[in-house]
Amino acid sequence: MRTPFIAGNWKMNKDNVESISLVKELINLVEDAKVDIAVFPAFTSLNVVFETIKNTNIKLGAQNMHYEEEGAFTGEISPLMLKDCEYVILGHSERRHIFNEKDDLINKKIIAALKHNLKPILCIGETLEEREQNATFKIIESQLKNSLLEIKDMKNVTIAYEPVWAIGTGKTATPEQAEEVHVFIRKLLGELYNKEIADSTRILYGGSVKPENIKALMAKENIDGVLVGGASLDAKKFAQIVKF
Ligand code: PEP
Repeated sequence: MRTPFIAGNWKMNKDNVESISLVKELINLVEDAKVDIAVFPAFTSLNVVFETIKNTNIKLGAQNMHYEEEGAFTGEISPLMLKDCEYVILGHSERRHIFNEKDDLINKKIIAALKHNLKPILCIGETLEEREQNATFKIIESQLKNSLLEIKDMKNVTIAYEPVWAIGTGKTATPEQAEEVHVFIRKLLGELYNKEIADSTRILYGGSVKPENIKALMAKENIDGVLVGGASLDAKKFAQIVKF
């Protein structure tokens, strides 16, 4: 019922030439894949990647955006500037922790994304300190509830559970650790909305996903896909993940 979704977050990597070359290699490797696939290049490469993936099974997304449509917001990108994109990642842990983004800002961004027909991928996840203090569920609950405040229509929203301690560190959550949190998120969605939304919302896992660990993660009932950082910069590795 939930089509697997494999998303590649390129972060602050790849110029235009490198982005085109990466996505061209990927197109050939994943053309027969049965899952939803999206790549998230830097803002500067969105257009060239968009032109390159036309008529393929790869979708485009942005890594962030501002919630206002236009104005004096130096260095920011508005939803109106992301017309080529289908998806937008919001609340990524690097935005939360390096750029100090809080749930209320992320909430405004999700509302703006939906208003402009962009499908948000809301990222939530605990730090190592929070996990060690047994605060994981409390953090997940408050991030989810506060980021989704006033949002009624969930059909275009994807959730990504990304434990901060597993992002870019080589430490993956075990499939059991990830599944436990995914079950909790689905239960919360049932409480906040209803069973239909809980059952149909895709919940991705992110944090050092590689070809070596994808099968075990995807074998879990509540893991509906993955958000991949480092390994998405290598077309062969990302294609192996897509073809888990
Ligand atoms: C990410 O950027 O969302 C991520 C999970 O990164 P990595 O796969 O490198 O841990």
